[in-house]
Parts: sequence; C-alpha cells; structure tokens
Amino acid sequence: MNAVNASGWRPSMGETGEAGEKFVTSSGDYGLMLEEALSFELGSSEKCGVDLDTPARPAAAGLSKFLRKAAPALPGLTEPETVRHYTRLSRQNYAIDLGPFPLGSCTMKHNPRLNEKMARLPGFADVHPLQPQKSVEGALEVIEQLADWLITLTGMASVAMSPKAGAHGELCGLLCIRAALDARGEKRDVVLVPESAHGTNPATAAFAGFKVQSIPATPEGRVDLDALKAKLGPNVAGVMITNPNTCGLFEPEMKAIGDAVHAAGGYVYCDGANFNAIVGKVRPGDLGVDAMHINLHKTFSTPHGGGGPGAGPVVLSEALAPFAPLPFVTRSADGTVHLVEEENAGEGHAQAFGRMVAFHGQMGMFTRALTYILSHGADGLRQVAEDAVLNANYVLRSCEDLLPAPFAKSGPCMHEALFSDAGLAEGFSTLDIAKGLIDEGFHPMTVYFPLVVKGAMLVEPTETESKAGLDRFIGSLRSLAQRAKDGDQSLHSAPHFAPRRRLDETLAARKPVLVWQGHLGEPGTPSLSEFGGS
Ligand SMILES: *Cc1c(COP(=O)(O)O)cnc(C)c1O
Repeated sequence: MNAVNASGWRPSMGETGEAGEKFVTSSGDYGLMLEEALSFELGSSEKCGVDLDTPARPAAAGLSKFLRKAAPALPGLTEPETVRHYTRLSRQNYAIDLGPFPLGSCTMKHNPRLNEKMARLPGFADVHPLQPQKSVEGALEVIEQLADWLITLTGMASVAMSPKAGAHGELCGLLCIRAALDARGEKRDVVLVPESAHGTNPATAAFAGFKVQSIPATPEGRVDLDALKAKLGPNVAGVMITNPNTCGLFEPEMKAIGDAVHAAGGYVYCDGANFNAIVGKVRPGDLGVDAMHINLHKTFSTPHGGGGPGAGPVVLSEALAPFAPLPFVTRSADGTVHLVEEENAGEGHAQAFGRMVAFHGQMGMFTRALTYILSHGADGLRQVAEDAVLNANYVLRSCEDLLPAPFAKSGPCMHEALFSDAGLAEGFSTLDIAKGLIDEGFHPMTVYFPLVVKGAMLVEPTETESKAGLDRFIGSLRSLAQRAKDGDQSLHSAPHFAPRRRLDETLAARKPVLVWQGHLGEPGTPSLSEFGGS
C-alpha cells in the first residue's frame, strides 16, 4: 500500500502489460475498477454532511461532566462524498446478484425478490418482541406455519425455531441431547464426529462440554460404519453426522448408523446444512435422526454470508422433543396460535432445557423462508433438490478429466462437486485456481475443505444457475486447470484484475487490524503493505 497523496487518492497500483510496460493512471482507478481510500483518509474535520444548529440551551445540570472537551475524531464528508464512498466500496464486492457464488457447503442460491417484499411488510418488519401477543398473531402464525412445513419436510416430531444459525442449532441439538441424558440419569460425555465434518461440529460438541472423538472416512468418502460401531459404548452421548456429507455424497448407511447408535443408548445429531440436496426427496426422520438443524438461509433462501443473518431451526425426534428450548409457538385446539413461555411451560414443555435466545428467533428469515416454501410448493421443493444435484453432476462430469474428482467413481454426487489439486504442475495448487477464478469474474469455490481431500475444491452451483451460466463457469475452471497443468507461471500472481493481489492471509489472520488507528504512514500505525497489499 502506498501512502495517500495530497488529494486523498492513492497512487496507481500500476498494472504491468505483457511487454513489461507499466500502465498507470493518475487517479489510481482503472476504468470501472475503483481504488478507494478509507473515509478517514478522504474526510476532514472541517467538513460536515449536515447543518446542525448550535444548541441554544446549555447542558442540563448534572450532565455537564459528560460534555466532550474536544470534537470526536470522525471524518467529515459531504453527503455526495459519503454516498460515493460506499457505492465505490460496494463495487469491489462480489455478490450473488452479480454472478454465481459456487462456495461449497454454503448454498448461495438466488434469493427471490418476492421473499424480500413479504419480509418488508410492516406487520412483519416492524414487530417488536415485547409487543402484546394479541397484536402479533399474524407473526406467530407465520412461525407456526413454517414450523409445520419443516416438520412435514423432515418427518420429525417437533421443531425448535429460535436458534439463530446452523452452529447455534447444533448447540441447541446437543443441549437437548444432554437434557435427555440428564433425565435418564446418565452421564455420557463423548460425541463422535466424522473426520470430514464441518468445523462447527467438533467446536459445538466441545463448547457443549463433550469430548470429541473422530470417526475415519472410508476410501469412498463415507462414514466408516465398522469404525463407528467400534467406538460406541456407555460413554457415547451421540454422533454428529452430516448427510449429504461434506464430500458431496449421500450416506447410504444412515439408517444402520442410527440403529447402532440407538442400540448403544446414544442419539443421532444430523448436520442438515446440505438439506438442499434432499429436500422433498428424503425425510431425515425416516433415517433415525434425533435432531437436525436446517439452515433457513441456505436451503430456504435468505441473502447470507459475511456473518448473517441466519436462522437455524432444529427439528427433533419424539425422544428429544420434550427438551426443546422456550419460547415455543403452539397451536391450540381452537386453531389459534400462542406462545409457551416459562410461566405456561406446563403445556407440554415442562422439561425444556432453557432458552437459546431472549426471544423467538429471526422474524425476517421466517417470513422469507415461508414465502419461499409456499411459492415453490412441495413439487417445487423436490425440483429444487433435483436441479441442484443435476447442476453439480454437470460440473463434476464436465471437469473430471482435468481435475481429479476423488469420489466420482462411487457414482453421482449430490449437490456439490468435489475436486482435488493432485495432478497440477509442480508448485501449483488449489489456491492458484481459486485466485485465477477471481480474474475470470467468479467468486472462488470453497477451498481446502473438507480436510479429508488434498487441496479440496468444493463447488456448489445450486439449482438457480442456468446451463449457459454453468457452461461459462466450467469454461473458466477448465481453462485454469489446463494453465495449472501446463505450469503457466502467471497464474501464481493472480488475481491480476482485482483491486488487490494476493494478501498474506496468515498474517491477516494472526495480526488482524480491525480498527483504524491513525493516518497511514504516521509512526506507530500499521501499514497495509505489511499484509502484502499493493
Ligand atoms: C454452513 C454450515 C454449518 C454452519 O451453519 P451456520 O449457519 O453458518 O452457523 C454447519 N455445517 C455445515 C456442513 C455447513 O455447511
């Protein structure tokens, strides 16, 4: 990173042409590729975006000690400067509204605008969780109808709606398991987790106070049933299985896994993040699952990423349903809906383990998810799964001659195509392909996950990509794989056409600088060049 020059603009990044010549622009911008300084660097304390009158009255007696002695060190920008600043920054973002977002395990599908319209209806958007129940019956009805759909689609007995994300749902499920064990008077402290699991699974089990033991995968990328059986015993509280798993494969022995775990006195937690591949096709309740979170933001389409928003309702079997957390939305015999809280927990929820959150969950996401479900209907949801699986297999079969697909011999994949970087030229890896995709105008796929595959690339196209869109993506992926096989050195410095080149990701993770601490270049201020920024 170069220092900011007098006019507030950073000098040009200086692209280098094929013949080695430097292309330089005086603004630092390259056409529509905009270079943007921090608001602190652009603004000044003399400027203000609004006209504020000097307050006529002195500070109220007793409050004067809170008066500022000096103006806050905030950047002053005019309204047009502010609007342009954020608009320019937003143009450096990649988004699902801009192109495919093939991040495996994340189900980044198109979010229908109808969902947004419904979520913005004032009766949903403006509700407050402390409003009298009588005034929010419509909102409670949405929660109950969505709950009913989730129970129907999963074939389970009950659903806890309040968890705020997948990982939060995992915690809710494990706390239900613990409450059920407590009720049986048993102290079991081991949770079995396959090697291929998402990092949240072992993290949740450890956070909930369990010891984590890992189960190996078979060479076909599935849970090793014999290895799992060998670990079962009186200490095992349960297993956490992802199905379809993170290798993009269905676990065909799920029922046998469930039977073995139940026979040994444990419970089956299923990570339902990949429900998109089986919605309308398979009911986890038929496979012996006791608890499973559903990432509403993934399968049932809410814009997500960057940490939110999310919603992770947990469907529960008969065995775990009594322990679901409060509050709980319930339909009475007369057809009306109402809330079960601590004071009326006797209505079937006396054994609730407590609460996950203060209120009922994410109203905006419930509204979006129910809108999505109602606008698709049961047939439409089944087609979602079928098209998602079809698209992933199209990517898999279109690229497997260039990029090894470790489990492709075992048959079709589910909604994700998994490749490895074995077979690229010496020194080339998954990272080069991922960075190259940025130059091709795509968001990279999930990289180096699952851990059981060397240099894993997990591509989840989702059902909302057209064949033409998939062909463009496949063309780019094939071209990058070929360049990496041919040893094209220029790939090592990709991305060339992004605002920044390769950052030092290790340093950025180990020494994150999250707060602006003064003008760049001043003594004691971290310089972005430390992070490899140009
Ligand atoms: C996304 C995901 C999670 C975690 O869900 P969040 O909503 O991000 O907390 C867990 N497991 C798998 C397999 C996932 O893809």
